Amino acid sequence: MAATLTGHGPGRTRSADELRTLVERASRDLADASAPEIASWAANTFGRRLAVACSMAGDTVLPHLVARYLPGVDVLFLETGYHFAETIGTRDAVAAVMDVSVVDVQPAQTVAEQDAEHGPRLYERNPGLCCGLRKVAPINAELASYEAWVTGIRREDNANRAHALPVEWDQTHQMVKVNPIVAWSFDDLLGYASEHSVPINLLLTDGYPSIGCEPCTRRPKPGEDARAGRWAGVAKTECGLHL
Ligand code: SF4
Repeated sequence: MAATLTGHGPGRTRSADELRTLVERASRDLADASAPEIASWAANTFGRRLAVACSMAGDTVLPHLVARYLPGVDVLFLETGYHFAETIGTRDAVAAVMDVSVVDVQPAQTVAEQDAEHGPRLYERNPGLCCGLRKVAPINAELASYEAWVTGIRREDNANRAHALPVEWDQTHQMVKVNPIVAWSFDDLLGYASEHSVPINLLLTDGYPSIGCEPCTRRPKPGEDARAGRWAGVAKTECGLHL
């Protein structure tokens, strides 16, 4: 059982071995399941010990999907201090119209405090450290208080994610990772959002198929993969959350 309870979750009651066994079973049972079936399984299996990670980019369908089976579910939003105004607006819209509890996951330092310690624009000089301080450390502390988390990973995002499964063992966080929309295309995602009136980030339809912090995101060029506009020009493709 995890001892750290700095997050908003109720903590863990299952051991890592018990959670791993659940993943093994789910890998068989849910291999070809639909997104609602995967979300329903996660809600029924973990209840309040399940959280949804949402970047308020292309993944606002996730809180909607999970809240159908688990009203009031905790939705973790990494408030890095570097978001586009459209992303903050999307977070506020999700909190207003969905039956979810949005949690702003905050870094230990404000941007001003980080600038004072490391110098301004750390993201230009050392994006790995910046992501570590503003995303990875805060989400690690938060996830320790849940048994499972739901992510918006899709196989078509890039080559690293091409073999992602609906339910996986998250070795880094020693917990269950649920990827209900893993098999969806970008059009599937927009179709669900349209059908259910889910608020979407306006940048998605303005040439940004993948949206992160404003200083580290640009529009991909024609022919590039969806995440090519993230940390463009540096050898970095993931923020460290999905290692
Ligand atoms: Fe910093 Fe960029 Fe990572 Fe945001 S995406 S935490 S600005 S390096």
